[in-house]
Amino acid sequence: MGIFDYVRLKIGFRFYSRRQIQAYQFKTIQRNFALAQAKAPYYEALNDGKGLLSWGDFFRLPIMDKNILMNHFDEINTVGLKRTEVEAFACDKETRKDYTGYYKDRYVVGLSSGTSGNKGLYLTDKALTKKLPFVFLARSGLSLKYLPFKIMFCLRVFSQGFADINSPLIKLNYVSTMTPIDHVIREINRQKINILMAPPSFVRLLISHREEIKSTFSCIVCYAEVLTKEEKEKFKTFFHCQVIEIYQASEGQIASACKEGNLHINEDLVFVEMMDEKGQVVDQSGVPGQLVVTNLVNTIQPLFRYRMNDWVVLKDSCPCGSHYRVLDHIIGRQDDVMMFMTNDHRLQHVFPDLISRWIITYSNDIREFKVIQSEANGMGLMIDCLSGMPSESFVEGLYDRLVKEFSAFDIQPQLKIFVTQITIPQDNSKYKRFEVRKADHHELDLGS
Ligand SMILES: [Zn+2]
Repeated sequence: MGIFDYVRLKIGFRFYSRRQIQAYQFKTIQRNFALAQAKAPYYEALNDGKGLLSWGDFFRLPIMDKNILMNHFDEINTVGLKRTEVEAFACDKETRKDYTGYYKDRYVVGLSSGTSGNKGLYLTDKALTKKLPFVFLARSGLSLKYLPFKIMFCLRVFSQGFADINSPLIKLNYVSTMTPIDHVIREINRQKINILMAPPSFVRLLISHREEIKSTFSCIVCYAEVLTKEEKEKFKTFFHCQVIEIYQASEGQIASACKEGNLHINEDLVFVEMMDEKGQVVDQSGVPGQLVVTNLVNTIQPLFRYRMNDWVVLKDSCPCGSHYRVLDHIIGRQDDVMMFMTNDHRLQHVFPDLISRWIITYSNDIREFKVIQSEANGMGLMIDCLSGMPSESFVEGLYDRLVKEFSAFDIQPQLKIFVTQITIPQDNSKYKRFEVRKADHHELDLGS
């Protein structure tokens, strides 16, 4: 990432017209599709084995989803990677908590649990991953008077590619969201952090400690969870700074905020379509649509018309002048953060995402799961298995795995595992996979 990239990101964003944007997108899709047809067997026969000549050809391509991606993993990537090997690599890293290094020294492997419990494996070139944190900086309208940017990046799971940015103008330090809060505050003060990047649930935890924070933030960047308008205002008031949002998914960097604080689709990185539940195109403002994404920059694992689980609502336009479409909001699941008491009586937060990863990396047989906390230090886990009724040793193994993971944080939860059938309601934005219930509810039920 040099100053040239920064300027290109900023100028492209500001001045392209809708027509120029669409022309750029089609040219890129056409080129990526030709590469995919040559290098990835899954794409070879699509469009009768011919290249894309028009948008019409493109819109006739079948919609992809996570099941297709995982079932045809080996034929969908352009570099001959095998699912079994990549999966073993990701699970091994997860089990050993070793998030450094790249697969075959070149690829970043992303693991996501998404809306249905089973995992998705996403591949990105490491060079591309390193650039992404800067897209938000280029678009945010963040004043250069705040240079040098001293960024603290709170990652829910340590990820490769972010650790080694340490240039004179931009320093990027990362902490895990599991780091105890007093340690995080010490680091913020010691390094004079002026930009905080964290999920909203983590910023919420910091609010009660704001007296101890000596650094002045110029900007808080939220990602990874839905940031409500009310919460955004609250953060602004508490920390007296700009609060911006980026919308990053395993499938690509979907949107980032402009200087007006509006969330624009990154039209130079992804081509976004929106559809209703019948598969009809949604293009009006104010109407929810499910995201179907074509990544324009990832040629390692090219995804064309890939249906994500997220729903979004568009907004008319933005006074900043950019013609990149604007998202009014993202409709997402709002899982609860779990709190546990450590053995030395400290309250420790545990993010749903982390528990998800422990579960999905245990076995592919777990189709769906739900976690309910109804009493302090208790955790009920419901699992729905592809094989129907898993063996006793399977359940014991999962129990042992979770106990081991929790004990690394000095937590000994009372854990119960139930095998059951789980149905996700149609409107998944109302569904919580992680749910904290008030203490007077001792019954564990699925409520569906
Ligand atoms: Zn704008």
